Parts: sequence; structure tokens; C-alpha cells
Amino acid sequence: MTTPSFAGQPAEPGTLWGTVTAVQANYYSVSLDGLVSFGETLDSVADIPPTLLCTRRARLKKVGQQVMVGDRVQVEDPDWEGRRGAIAAVSQRQTQLDRPPVANANQILLVFAVAEPDLDVHQLTRFLVKAELTGLDICLCLNKCDLLEADAQATWQARLRRWGYAPVMISVKQSLGLPTLADALKNRITVVSGPSGVGKSSLINRLIPAAELRVSAVSGKLGRGRHTTRHVELFELLTGGLLADTPGFNQPDIACAPQALGECFPEIRERLQNHRCQFTDCLHRAEPGCAVSSDWERYPDYLQLLDNCVTQTQLAHDSADPEAAFKIKITDDGQIQHEPRLSPKKYRRVSRRSRKQSLEDLRYELTDSIDNLEALEEEDIDIDF
Ligand code: GDP
Ligand code: ZN
Repeated sequence: MTTPSFAGQPAEPGTLWGTVTAVQANYYSVSLDGLVSFGETLDSVADIPPTLLCTRRARLKKVGQQVMVGDRVQVEDPDWEGRRGAIAAVSQRQTQLDRPPVANANQILLVFAVAEPDLDVHQLTRFLVKAELTGLDICLCLNKCDLLEADAQATWQARLRRWGYAPVMISVKQSLGLPTLADALKNRITVVSGPSGVGKSSLINRLIPAAELRVSAVSGKLGRGRHTTRHVELFELLTGGLLADTPGFNQPDIACAPQALGECFPEIRERLQNHRCQFTDCLHRAEPGCAVSSDWERYPDYLQLLDNCVTQTQLAHDSADPEAAFKIKITDDGQIQHEPRLSPKKYRRVSRRSRKQSLEDLRYELTDSIDNLEALEEEDIDIDF
């Protein structure tokens, strides 16, 4: 079994490299690359286990080098019988996602269903924009095609192509379109995303062989369940490539600089390929000399999301200047309005969603602290060189 060299790390002869597939406390599961250069020094390449449970060298800890799932790492002192090793170096990350925490991911697999639940184009747009904001490639996949006639499926495909996406149409239930999807996941690190009920878990279980038997060496060792919010694990696909087993963002809040939002719409990117707006900071709201017309389906969604981004940016700006009596609001038609600042109490009233988010953040931090404590405890048995 080989793991492709995702980050393009050129391995020196005699060095052992692999990809971290799971992390818990200070233990790391490392799926090793092809072991050709080691084969010469051992009886048989086939005897070498593909995954080693590793600790992190003390010198990496000292310089604060964290190790994440997806990291490309160099492993030293392999103990083939005990299937242990030590991580000696971490390759520079090509990409880094925070939720779920995954390094070197190449793409987001965005799963929606054509029915049950009905496909909500506004919700789809939010998920697409959120995925675009990561800067990773997007593979859009529409599941439950068994519930829709062929011509209705074709209508969806044509509509989404006009948005700039080429959806892979599948049915997990009837095993339709799965080889095409597997092809899109080949030799890449993929993180799954999408709303609940669309069939993400069903799909992940189908794509990862012997899904029901999946127990990681790491969580097995520590006697813990896999499915905590923070922990993510990468699983090897039969066709090559790795898939994160934890779905990514579920309720996307779009928060970005207003200028960055246009980049998240293929329709805008396409229109700006050959034409430029008159103003370099144009937000494409019918400003004079704007090269982005309004004659595309998702233009109203763009305007609405833009409005949110402008307001949020303004709120962030205002909170940095608590003395200001007025705040500036940019209206839909681009006019600047001065509004009295809300009283701090009212202004700070926390929505249910942000309260939930804060609780989640707190949980993340607590889990982190527990991990760190465990890491400290286990330092005693950690062999440092
Ligand atoms: P998740 O919340 O996105 O992880 O969705 P699940 O995998 O839990 O699936 C939600 C429901 O959709 C379950 O009842 C599945 O059996 C069903 N489901 C999943 N894939 C398909 C499919 O291709 N066709 C149909 N008709 N139902 C599906
Ligand atoms: Zn413009």
C-alpha cells in the first residue's frame, strides 16, 4: 500500500516519509509512503507495515512545531515489530484548514442531495462560497439521483454549469456515479462538506473500505471513540487518495472582506477575465464602469452576502473604535449612511447561533487542554534524542 507524495516532498534515499492520518494526545498515526529505498536493507518490502504509531521528537516540541492530520512527516527509528516510530521533521504545509484541522488538503467534496431534502439553491450557494473561501478545489456532488427523473437531473446539471460548477451526479443507494466520483478523489486529500441528511455518512462509509471495521490505531490505543468534534482522521481510498472522515463546516457563516467575496463566484471571476472594472475596489453593485453585469442567476445572492460582509466588516471596525457615536452603513445601492450606535447591551446581545458557536469554541479549547495535559503526562515515556 502506498501513500502518494501529496506535498511533493522529495525523499532522500534512506529516509522514511509518510502522511499523518490521525492525531490524539501526542500519538500520531503515520501512513508510510512507498518503501522502495528501504526494501534493499530489509528481507522483504512486504513485511513492512504501512502505518506506524509515532511520537514527536522533543526538538520539534521545543520549537513549537505542531503536527496535524495530513502533515507530511519524516519518520526515524522505525520499530517494525512494535509498529512504532518517531516523527523527526514536518514538511512545510501546502494548505491548512482549521475546522476540521487538516493539513495539505487539496479539495472540498461538497455533497448535496437532489431531493429529500429538496435542493435549496441559496443554501448551496452559501456552502459553495464557504468552500471557495478555503482556496481549495471544489468537487460538487449531487446525491440521491435515484429520486429524480433523468431529465430533471439534466436540468440541474445545466443550471449548475451556468454557475461554473460541473456536478457529479450520484446515488449511494443505487451505486450510481460512484466510479466517476472516486476518480475525482484519486490521489488527493479531500474533506467532505454539506448539510445534514444529504447522505455524507452513507457516502463516506461506501468510499472507505470496511468502514464498519474502521478503528484507528490511535483511538484504539487510547480507548476513545473517534467521533469527537475536533478529531479528524484520514482514510485511504481504494483508488488512492485520502478522505477526512469528519464532515467539514455544517452551518456556514460567510465572513470575509467584501473585496474577497467576488472571488468566490465563478460567474464574477469569468466576467473579470477579459474586462476590468473602472474602480480597483469595485464591489460590483452597479458602480460606474463595473464590468460585472447583473444578468446571472446568483447575482442577488452575491448582493445579499456582500451586504452581510460589509456589515460585519463595519461592526469589526466599530468595535475597534468604541467611542464612536455613529457607525457607517453601506446600503444595498452603495450609499453610505451614518447610523446611531446601538446601546452596548443591545448591540452585544448574542444570537443563539453565536452562543452555540462560543460553546463549541470552549469545547475545542477544553479538548485541547486535555490533550496538552495528556501530552505532558506522556512526556515521561516519550523517548527524546
Ligand atoms: P448525512 O446526514 O449527510 O451524513 O446523511 P446520511 O448518510 O445519514 O443519510 C441521510 C438519509 O439519506 C439516510 O436515511 C440514508 O439512508 C439516505 N440516503 C443516503 N444516500 C441516499 C441515496 O443515494 N438515495 C436515497 N434515496 N437515500 C439516500
Ligand atoms: Zn465591478
